[in-house]
Amino acid sequence: MSLRLVRPEDRRYPALRSTYTTAGAPAAIALPESAAEVAAAIAHGRERGLDIAVRSGGHGLAGTSTNRGGLVIDLSALHDVAVADPAARLVRVGAGARWADVAAALHPHGLAISSGDHGNVGVGGIATGGGVGWLARWYGLTIDHVRAAEVVLADGRIVRADAEHDPELLWAVRGAGAGAGIVTAFEIEAARVRDVGVAQLLVAADQDGAALRRWASALREAPRELTSEVIMLHNGRSPVMRVTAVVAGGDPRRVREIVEPLRRIGKVLDHRVDRAPYPVLLPPSHKHPNVAQQPVTITNGLLPAMDGDAAEAVMALVRSGRALVQLRSLGGAIHDVDRGATAYPHRHQHTLVLASMFPPDGRAELDAAWRVLAGRVDGAYGNFEGRRDRPAFARVYPGPTGERVAAAWRRYDPGAVFRPYPI
Ligand SMILES: Cc1cc2nc3c(=O)[nH]c(=O)nc-3n(C[C@H](O)[C@H](O)[C@H](O)COP(=O)(O)OP(=O)(O)OC[C@H]3O[C@@H](n4cnc5c(N)ncnc54)[C@H](O)[C@@H]3O)c2cc1C
Repeated sequence: MSLRLVRPEDRRYPALRSTYTTAGAPAAIALPESAAEVAAAIAHGRERGLDIAVRSGGHGLAGTSTNRGGLVIDLSALHDVAVADPAARLVRVGAGARWADVAAALHPHGLAISSGDHGNVGVGGIATGGGVGWLARWYGLTIDHVRAAEVVLADGRIVRADAEHDPELLWAVRGAGAGAGIVTAFEIEAARVRDVGVAQLLVAADQDGAALRRWASALREAPRELTSEVIMLHNGRSPVMRVTAVVAGGDPRRVREIVEPLRRIGKVLDHRVDRAPYPVLLPPSHKHPNVAQQPVTITNGLLPAMDGDAAEAVMALVRSGRALVQLRSLGGAIHDVDRGATAYPHRHQHTLVLASMFPPDGRAELDAAWRVLAGRVDGAYGNFEGRRDRPAFARVYPGPTGERVAAAWRRYDPGAVFRPYPI
């Protein structure tokens, strides 16, 4: 089988060598157009002893979807999105599609899959890692709705994983797929949703974290149609919370009713509520080539509760002025899933806290700033974690989940061709 390889002398190479965070210099980039071509690319890399990096959208925050001197298997040509079974709302999605494409393709069918907050992120990274999207409290994580996957294993076998065929592989794909094989396509159960309510608020963030606590408790008590994300803005004076709240379903009265408690979390500086088709949140304008434009260093932690100490710790991190701090509401449908049902075991935490730093700050500065929160969080979400070491593995896959993930990775990829963390 002939391989579609892009080498450094090819004019397409500059737009394919890097990812969102990381400049790469691979020996070649394979652009397979079928699962069989993915298998051939794996064989090509293994026969030559090349490191193999797998890429769907190139937005991975650990920079693992490129390398130097190795082979990148770029799945962008595998981007079909098709409603396979309208009655069951079952959608077949190529791993190389971007979530903007998925939102646009499903909207005419009155369907959507909650994925993330950015349209350029790839299906493969989210649907094998988690997927904390704009409808997370209503829909759950993306992986919670993955019903089947087509996987190319390290030895070149092309297998289907679903509830009947190799359920252990499906279990691993749903949260720890990066270490199991290369997923070329997913069958995902979509939700019936066309429009959403979108509220945007700017709220003064009290130094002691009171507004943050009120945001977290409003979310805990809110109906699960509500999901919210906060970006903490710190301009050297008083921090401000930029709150985005998305309500599944666009009925204006219901949206206003659900969003209303957020107007009482603190001094509101600005506020608007709109109704929008779901794809407005993940527009085609998000799509762009990844050329190492954002060399971010990132970590995260999951908070079971936003008590006074936790809120003060988040505010201390914000006040340090070095890190960009973001928060995501969890709970709702995410908590409906048993912690052992997927390789994502974090089913009781209510808030995801992300901290990012940009050059010249790097890992050492981020670790130092994160120390205020490190002892208060319970686990981490792998897709927002830049580290790929043993302690990170233990935070992302704690306890029995970690043991089962490690066993699955050893079973499906005994030669550690794809191994995303040391185990
Ligand atoms: C701007 C931005 C916004 C984000 N917003 C969100 C958000 O709202 N919610 C959220 O949950 N996450 C979010 N993320 C994090 C996102 O989930 C991860 O970065 C994810 O890994 C990106 O997927 P990708 O396919 O683009 O990654 P890639 O860089 O292509 O891949 C990253 C790694 O994932 C694995 N992988 C990718 N595809 C496959 C596959 N087909 N089979 C097996 N393994 C594979 C490989 O190990 C690969 O190295 C965001 C990231 C960015 C940069």
